[in-house]
Amino acid sequence: MSAHAFEHPANNAAERCPFMPVFGPPALMIERGLGTELWDSTGKRYLDFLAGIAVVSLGHSNPVVADAIARQAATLVHVSNFFANPVATEAALKVNALLEAATGHQGQVFFTNSGAESNECALKLARKHGGRGRHTVVSALGSFHGRTLASLAATGQPTKHEPFAPMPEGFRHVPWGDLDAMTAAVDGSVAAVLIEAIQGEGGINPAPAAYLRGLRDLCDRTGALLIVDEIQTGFARTGEWFAFEHAGISPDVVTLAKAMGNGMPVGACWARRDVAAVFEPGDHGSTYSGTALATAAVNATIDELRRIDAPAVARRKGARLVDALTGIDGVVGVRGKGLMLGVALADGLDARAIYADLLDAGLIVNAVNASTIRLVPPITVTDEEIDEAVTMIVAAIARAGGSAP
Ligand SMILES: *Cc1c(COP(=O)(O)O)cnc(C)c1O
Repeated sequence: MSAHAFEHPANNAAERCPFMPVFGPPALMIERGLGTELWDSTGKRYLDFLAGIAVVSLGHSNPVVADAIARQAATLVHVSNFFANPVATEAALKVNALLEAATGHQGQVFFTNSGAESNECALKLARKHGGRGRHTVVSALGSFHGRTLASLAATGQPTKHEPFAPMPEGFRHVPWGDLDAMTAAVDGSVAAVLIEAIQGEGGINPAPAAYLRGLRDLCDRTGALLIVDEIQTGFARTGEWFAFEHAGISPDVVTLAKAMGNGMPVGACWARRDVAAVFEPGDHGSTYSGTALATAAVNATIDELRRIDAPAVARRKGARLVDALTGIDGVVGVRGKGLMLGVALADGLDARAIYADLLDAGLIVNAVNASTIRLVPPITVTDEEIDEAVTMIVAAIARAGGSAP
């Protein structure tokens, strides 16, 4: 990483760094973005195929979203939940409409400020729905559900728990994709199954449709809720509005964030009406829930994703990217759907080294694990930008030793 060091306290004297040391030294100082492009403090241009970790689906500084935020900032930013505001009301109707179309169920929404908070809401809802003695939540190994204590407890990565033990009680993990293991784990104490339709942080691992259908059947048989974490997959990235649609299943609860405000910090927990009905006033809340500024970004983002038919665009651009990357030296496969892709590298190639080399070359990606490059560009990425990125990836793999021994 030293090749990318710049003048910043986080890269120099730790005692002067104003940030808590949880992220490691930043690779770049980014000053400006437009569409798929970013510029750093030296004026160098980058193509951004990470999009703020699958957040900026409409591209950086999208003019429609920027205008909505600017106008709302000058009209009404925040009023508290003692009062309604028309912007959040419109956003709730829009989110509910998308999820009603996807699930066939009417639902209700709780707005949050992040993905972890969306999952916190879902976990509390599941516990109240399950009732006393039925509060366990089962999730998959390799999953990622957030960094708050409860969402971290649900996250199936024991190494992330270890420094913070003891973790909150009532969480169970089973191997990913193993329906028998999940069936064995869902006993009378289980309130909900929490699952990603495509594991994101876990390495871009799509769940087979039969697995998701099996989970739906299991939850129907046992009365456990099926919660699908669509925080990374949601809002058209995978070629459907929500990734569970690929399997034709209908979850009881869906959690959202990342792309929902095109970079504005906002998320939501959605639940079927009869499930949401277990919450009473005082059971949950958040000062910023449904704040006008954030939900103005949600309205503009959903309208714009609809206008461009984002699911179809993600499918088409994703197919172009997969076609271009399939069969090139050093690539043994491309996992994922739409524009949520993991490029599996041949043995001997180090994804982290290729990430660093691509950064030098002017392409931002992410090494989601030691052998996989994650590509989650804006859905608005152009064909020319896809071709430019592929050319850079081919060159980086060649520099790293091509197809390796
Ligand atoms: C990013 C992510 C989260 C956590 O979202 P934050 O906004 O970082 O709290 C939860 N689940 C999944 C699947 C994610 O990708």
